[in-house]
Amino acid sequence: MDAEARPSLRDLPSVDQVLKTGAALEAAQRFGRVPLTAAVRAALEEVRACVLAGQLASVPSPDHVALAAAEQLALASRSSLRPVFNLTGTVLHTNLGRAVLAEAAVEAATAAMRSAVALEYDLGTGKRGERDDHVRELLIELTGAEDATVVNNNAAAVLLALNTLGAGKGAVVSRGELIEIGGAFRMPDIMARAGARLVEVGTTNRTHAKDYLGALDAETGLILKVHTSNYRIEGFTKEVSARELAQIARQHGVPLVHDLGSGTLADLARLGVGREPTVRETVADGADLVTFSGDKLLGGPQTGFLVGRADLIAAINRNPMKRALRVDKIRLAALEATLRLYRDPDTLAARLPTLRLLARPAGEIRALAEALAMPVATLIGDDWLVSVVDCASQIGSGALPQETLASAGLALRPADGSGSALAALAAALRRLERPVIGRITDGALLLDLRCLEDPQGLLDSLAGLPS
Ligand SMILES: *Cc1c(COP(=O)(O)O)cnc(C)c1O
Repeated sequence: MDAEARPSLRDLPSVDQVLKTGAALEAAQRFGRVPLTAAVRAALEEVRACVLAGQLASVPSPDHVALAAAEQLALASRSSLRPVFNLTGTVLHTNLGRAVLAEAAVEAATAAMRSAVALEYDLGTGKRGERDDHVRELLIELTGAEDATVVNNNAAAVLLALNTLGAGKGAVVSRGELIEIGGAFRMPDIMARAGARLVEVGTTNRTHAKDYLGALDAETGLILKVHTSNYRIEGFTKEVSARELAQIARQHGVPLVHDLGSGTLADLARLGVGREPTVRETVADGADLVTFSGDKLLGGPQTGFLVGRADLIAAINRNPMKRALRVDKIRLAALEATLRLYRDPDTLAARLPTLRLLARPAGEIRALAEALAMPVATLIGDDWLVSVVDCASQIGSGALPQETLASAGLALRPADGSGSALAALAAALRRLERPVIGRITDGALLLDLRCLEDPQGLLDSLAGLPS
């Protein structure tokens, strides 16, 4: 470029000139005068750098700078925790926030956020009440346990149980159940932090009753049984059943704590989702305490439960750690509303998204895929081949890891077979106003439609792809 034709810094519009444009006045309304001024300065700074580097043929108009600043503000003001379309095929996706809450839970949480609530206040007597009372009776009713309490999540429930019953004592656990479930939750580490001494018994694949019996002594604080959630040991294996372990624990006067992991309050077989013992069955098997999650199969907000013997729950409630692990009014409201849905098994699957999505028939999902194939193909353009495919969804969050659910979706394949195009499309889908998250498999970007309940919303979002 010849030096004469280069724009000069003197031609740059001033901040004031930009702020007086129509575009700037509009943006000031939307984002506020102060953030807009900062964005305009930043935009002008960028133009200045380009001019100095000789990258511009002419300086932009004040309007142009205002629009660029407004666009920056719009991008920066998008929530980082904004909703996405979970088309990964994993219904309870930990990285995507696990359970989607029921409408009743959303309403209850919203109401609790907007107003003062009787959180620890007994409306009958006008005296101080208990936070747990909002869900205690429901949990007792739904699990058959003597008493119950709620904490931040199941990791907290396990930590609290181990600390309350096992601090300075031994916690006996099978080597086949010393799990890591991801997110730095490793049983031996949790035990150390709880102040309990890990007493490993048995071997990785086989643990017998005599292994537990040989480890019990005056120093034993508890026996721990752990649901192996996200893995299975197959072949030459042996574990001691929860029922047998409960007998051993009772005979020796030590409590049995059963960490169920996901835990379910509903009969999943009835919904065609495989077989997982319910919390009620686990309680009936005789564990003194059972712990489980609120946002896995239960389908509620992130919470963790301890249910079982009243004297042990009382001891847990006296532990000062409980205060640090408690839940706030918003989650408690959502949880109460979620648990209430379980009172009516006939309407449960329709009202609770987690169970509704898990029980969704493959035929219905396939029909959705067939209806969406054409419009999606039109929106993503000629470079892509879109086909309806059968696929398999997963439950997620360590629940029934080997169980898959027949599903259907759209496979997006680059017409020229290029692998880098796939990653680029996945990235473009993640940049959408409402990001679309699929998974790359067999040379295609697969959108499993099991969790899609708003097809028009998906099309609207895809319409934002750059052409
Ligand atoms: C998921 C899980 C936990 C942790 O539960 P969070 O609610 O995620 O804290 C603990 N134990 C087992 C066996 C699990 O599967």
